[in-house]
Amino acid sequence: MTAKPSASRPRLALVGTGGTIAATTQSSTGLTDYDITEGVHALLHAVPEIQDLAELECHQIFNVDSRAMSSLMLLELSRKLNELLARPDLDGVVLTHGTDTLEESAFFLHLTLKTRKPVVLTAAMRPASALSADGPLNLHNAVLAACAPQAQGQGVLVLLNDQIHSARFLSKQHTTQTSAFGSPDAGPLGLVAAGQARFAMRCLLPHTLDSRFDVRGLAALPRVQVFYDHPDTLAELYRSAAQNGVRGIVVAATGNGSLTPGALEGVSRAHRLGVACVRASRIHAGPVTDSAYDQDHHTIAAHWLPAQKARILLMLGLAAQLDETELQYVFQTY
Ligand code: ASP
Repeated sequence: MTAKPSASRPRLALVGTGGTIAATTQSSTGLTDYDITEGVHALLHAVPEIQDLAELECHQIFNVDSRAMSSLMLLELSRKLNELLARPDLDGVVLTHGTDTLEESAFFLHLTLKTRKPVVLTAAMRPASALSADGPLNLHNAVLAACAPQAQGQGVLVLLNDQIHSARFLSKQHTTQTSAFGSPDAGPLGLVAAGQARFAMRCLLPHTLDSRFDVRGLAALPRVQVFYDHPDTLAELYRSAAQNGVRGIVVAATGNGSLTPGALEGVSRAHRLGVACVRASRIHAGPVTDSAYDQDHHTIAAHWLPAQKARILLMLGLAAQLDETELQYVFQTY
């Protein structure tokens, strides 16, 4: 295939971090127990059609399973992307990532990248060696989405299974299917169909240039843990977390953020030890609303964020030294 002349194609950075999209197994029917073997150059090489859409320069920042993504790696990733996005010769970034913690990384970048340029994450549920691997088309469509003028100023986007989602609302909802992702409280912002990326919506909540969070000078993030609530919760675990350097706890509580007696006792103990506690929910959709609980027990309602994303916002809020009232405000408004 002959590529279009470079003057008419956007120039994008393709940043690899690993994940199933970069993994292979011995057998084409093997969908699990894979190894991450492919670098970002190989992913690009497998889809020569991309050359017709954009000029890509490859950057391999990590090559890990996304369960290994730490808060230090998130800081490094954000720093690296901010550097790339500040370059006048680059029009945007496409980033490949594992699906397991993609929603956390995408949300972190959504709140910490200082740009209006398109940033599109993509991934795969099936390894690159699999029959009907989903990675190559996802990568192609992520580049297509990043080239669309409507992708500008949208914060971080995620392209999976032909859908374009905002990092704010996207979450993983299935363990194996290629349609694993959705945005339960908002739906996708757009679609890729017949070789065109079409956007129908924008995310109105603050992100990128409107976000108050700037991590460019930060060396570390405060430690925040998620505790899954259930009957018979041991309050003692909350105190032990506080005594082990945890600065924030997000409770994936029952229903509309209702804490079991053990968790209620736990958050009271943790609060006395200076730990900020957020009430999120075990339920996969819907907000956790403010409650009289919050004044009485010094808790903060997570509003529209699931526990794993509430953890990201709490880390950023604590890193910015926000007090309880300010934390409450950012959970209401981000
Ligand atoms: N284990 C993979 C990961 O890196 C899962 C995936 O990418 O689909 O998250």
